[in-house]
Amino acid sequence: MQKADFDIVIIGGGIVGLATGYKIAGARRDISIAVLEKEPTLAGHQTGHNSGVIHSGLYYKPGSAKAKTCTDGRKQLVAFAKQYGIPYEICGKIIVATHEKELPGLERIFNNGIQNGIEGIVKISPAEIKQIEPFCAGIAGIKVPCTGIIDFVAVANKLAELIKRQNPENKILTSHKVIGFDKRIDCTDVLTNQGTVSTRFVINCAGLFSDRIARLDGANIKMKIVPFRGDYYDLKTEAQGKVKNLIYPVPDPQFPFLGVHFTRMVAGGVECGPNAVFSFKREGYGKLDFNLRDSWESLVYPGTLKLFFKHWRYGLGEYVRAFSKKLFLRQLQRLVPSIQGADLTPGNSGVRAQAVGSNGAPIDDFVIEPHRNTIHVLNAPSPAATACLAIADHITRLASEQFKL
Ligand SMILES: Cc1cc2nc3c(=O)[nH]c(=O)nc-3n(C[C@H](O)[C@H](O)[C@H](O)COP(=O)(O)OP(=O)(O)OC[C@H]3O[C@@H](n4cnc5c(N)ncnc54)[C@H](O)[C@@H]3O)c2cc1C
Repeated sequence: MQKADFDIVIIGGGIVGLATGYKIAGARRDISIAVLEKEPTLAGHQTGHNSGVIHSGLYYKPGSAKAKTCTDGRKQLVAFAKQYGIPYEICGKIIVATHEKELPGLERIFNNGIQNGIEGIVKISPAEIKQIEPFCAGIAGIKVPCTGIIDFVAVANKLAELIKRQNPENKILTSHKVIGFDKRIDCTDVLTNQGTVSTRFVINCAGLFSDRIARLDGANIKMKIVPFRGDYYDLKTEAQGKVKNLIYPVPDPQFPFLGVHFTRMVAGGVECGPNAVFSFKREGYGKLDFNLRDSWESLVYPGTLKLFFKHWRYGLGEYVRAFSKKLFLRQLQRLVPSIQGADLTPGNSGVRAQAVGSNGAPIDDFVIEPHRNTIHVLNAPSPAATACLAIADHITRLASEQFKL
C-alpha cells in the first residue's frame, strides 16, 4: 500500500477551508493536512470581498445550522481575534424600518433574535434611533449590541499560520488549482495544475466552485452555485460623519440577502451596499464581466430559470440599480436621507456563492454533505465568515465519523 502525501487535503484557502484545517489540526496533531488554493494568495474571493461584519445571528431561522453556528462562531471568532491581535470591534448595529409595511418583518427578526438567544437586543423608537445614529430616519428599529466588525483576511492568514504551526508536516499550497480526482483503492490522487497530491481524505471548501468540485468527485448533488455580485459605494471622507457604525434595513424575507446597508469598516471608512445582481461570471467583480461556461451553466439550469421567472421584477430592478447611481442612492436615502450622490464614490464588489435548488429556491441554510472519502461544503454563504470556527467544529466531527479518524 502506497503512503499518501497527506491524510487530508482541503480544497480552498478561504476562511471556511482554513478554519477547518485549523480545527482538525488542533484536534489531531498526528494528522497531516494540505490546503490547496488556486490563487497565489489566501482569502482572495468571498472572504476578501465581504462587508467585514461579525453577525450576531438574529436573522436566521431558529434551529437552523446558520442560527446555531452563527452565535457560537461569533463568540469563538471574537475570542480568536482577542487572542491573536486581529483588528476587530464590537460596535453594535441597528436595523431600521422606514415604512409601516416593514414592521411585521422587523417584529419577525426580533422574535428570531430572542429565540436564538442574541444578547442585549432591544426594540428602539425613532428618538432612540436618532440618539444612536443622528442622521438615520426610521419609524422603528432594533438595536443589536453584539454585532461587530473585523478584518476577515487577517483572520484567514492567522488560521493558515496556525495550521502550519500545529504540525510542521502541514502545508498551505497556493497557486494549486484542483482540476480532477483519480480515485484509487486506499487513497485519492488530487490532480492540480502543479501535479498530483495524494491524500486519504478530501474536504471541499471551494466556495464559488464547490458544486463543480463535488461533481468532479462524482457526487450526485441537487443544487448549483449561482453567483450574485454585490457592489459597494464608499462614503467620501467628508460624509463619513453621517454614519457612526452599522445601519441595516429590514430585509426582504424572500431572498437570502440583507439589503444595502451602511458598514463602518475596521480599517476605516464606510461602505454602502451590497446590492445582489446575477453575475455572468463566478469570480466576476466588474459589472460587465462575462464567462461563457459560468453563464451557460447558470442559464440552462432549471433552478436559475425558475428563480428568474418568479422574481424577474426584483432581479431586473437590482440589475438596473447596479448601473444607476441615482437608484442606488435612493435606496441608501431611505436609511439616511441626507446622503447625496456627491457623498459616494464607487467601491469594492464581491460575489456570493449562493446555492439554488432545482425548484428555483435559493437554499437558505448551510449545506455540508459527506460523499465516500470526501466532505463537500456546498453552501456556505453569509454568515459563514462569522460562523467559520463553529462550521469547522461541525466538519471536524463529521470527518471523524465519516473518515473513521
Ligand atoms: C458581498 C459579500 C458580503 C458578505 N458579507 C459578510 C459579512 O459581513 N459577514 C459574514 O460573516 N459573511 C459575509 N459574507 C459571506 C462570507 O464572505 C462567505 O460566507 C465566506 O467568506 C465563505 O468562505 P469560503 O471559504 O467558503 O469561500 P471563499 O472565501 O470564496 O474561499 C473559497 C476558496 O476556494 C478557492 N478555490 C475555488 N476553486 C478552487 C480549485 N479548483 N482549486 C483550489 N482552490 C479553489 C478559491 O480561490 C477561494 O479562495 C459576504 C459575502 C459576500 C460575497
